[in-house]
Formats: sequence, structure tokens, C-alpha cells
Amino acid sequence: MACLFCNIIQGKSPGRKVHEDDLAYAFEDIHPQAPTHILVCPKKHIASLNDIQPDDTELLGHLFQVCKKIAQERGIAGPGYRVVANTNRGAGQSVCHIHLHLLGGRPLQWPPG
Ligand code: 5GP
Ligand code: ZN
Repeated sequence: MACLFCNIIQGKSPGRKVHEDDLAYAFEDIHPQAPTHILVCPKKHIASLNDIQPDDTELLGHLFQVCKKIAQERGIAGPGYRVVANTNRGAGQSVCHIHLHLLGGRPLQWPPG
């Protein structure tokens, strides 16, 4: 199974790593939509939120802990930031490996397009 984000996580494709631990891997988005735009992924391949299982609950919580840590490191925790998981094509998901977009560093409008 060829998965772009699995390849980045495994070092087979280039990526600008921001964070790595046993469960998670985070890297800079190649087309940033804000001064901070980081993708926070589980190392485990899960295609989308539609595919999560009860066993994944702790893992998903951990991804949010990673978002919090990076937001603090980047100085956007106070001003504010957004965490987004696009799910399936209608929401704009283009890579089928769960990733949280961590966006910040500029005012963010609501609702998103
Ligand atoms: P999605 O559209 O699935 O929610 O988000 C996929 C994200 O992955 C997009 O923001 C896109 O810019 C980013 N992306 C696509 N290909 C690559 C790549 O090869 N490297 C990195 N770092 N980001 C990528
Ligand atoms: Zn994958």
C-alpha cells in the first residue's frame, strides 16, 4: 500500500519534521495556509476519521496533546490556533492517512470555505 504520509513518517519521502514520538509524527505542510501549518499524524496508518476504532481513542487524544505542545512552542497558544481534520473528499481530504492540520500565526476566519 503506497501512502505518502507513511512514507514521510518512515523517512522514505522528504518532510520537515517538527515532532516525533512513539505514536505521532508531525511535519510542515508543503503548501502552508498560515505562518504555522503543521500536519500531526499517527504513525499508525488510519485512512480517515471514518476508520477509527475504539482502540484508537488514546492515540487520537495523544495527537491533540502534540498539537498543544507545538502550539506552545510556536507561540500561537495564546493568540489562538485551529486544528482541523478534513474527512473524505467533500471536506477536502486529499491524503488518506489521518492528519490534524495545526494552523495559526494569523487571524483565522470562520466558517472555513
Ligand atoms: P488534506 O487535503 O488531506 O486535508 O491535507 C493534505 C495536506 O497535505 C495538504 O495541506 C497538502 O498541502 C499537504 N501535502 C500534500 N503532499 C505533501 C507532501 O508531499 N509533503 C508535505 N509536507 N505536505 C504535503
Ligand atoms: Zn499512511
